Amino acid sequence: MSLCLFCKIANKEIVSRVVYEDDKILAFEDINPQAPFHVVVIPKQHIATLNDVRNESVYSDVFKAIGQITKNANLQERGYRVVANCNGDGGQTVFHLHFHVLGGRAFRWPPG
Ligand code: AMP
Ligand code: ZN
Repeated sequence: MSLCLFCKIANKEIVSRVVYEDDKILAFEDINPQAPFHVVVIPKQHIATLNDVRNESVYSDVFKAIGQITKNANLQERGYRVVANCNGDGGQTVFHLHFHVLGGRAFRWPPG
């Protein structure tokens, strides 16, 4: 079975710039950053979209990692944004569940 792009990053078949890793989660620098700090946080397990989450513990694993990542990057006081795009209207392009963590500049609302 061929693995998706982020599965290949998770198992180190494709090189990425890792900023955080534990047994369930990997976070790496986005290849096309939209802010001075732009990291993609993924569960190592393949889940295609937010719609496919069957065990909500993935959210606590992801957000525990995000807490550590934003602390390490000194973003907590200044602030940051977490984004999860789902399917077509959400703008998802890689179908392995992931959360963008963006920081280092001010973001507008609503998003485009
Ligand atoms: P999304 O559009 O929400 O599905 O986000 C996918 C993200 O993955 C985009 O921000 C891409 O820039 C990023 N991306 C794609 N390929 C790679 C890669 N090889 N390494 C790091 N980030 C990537
Ligand atoms: Zn995958």
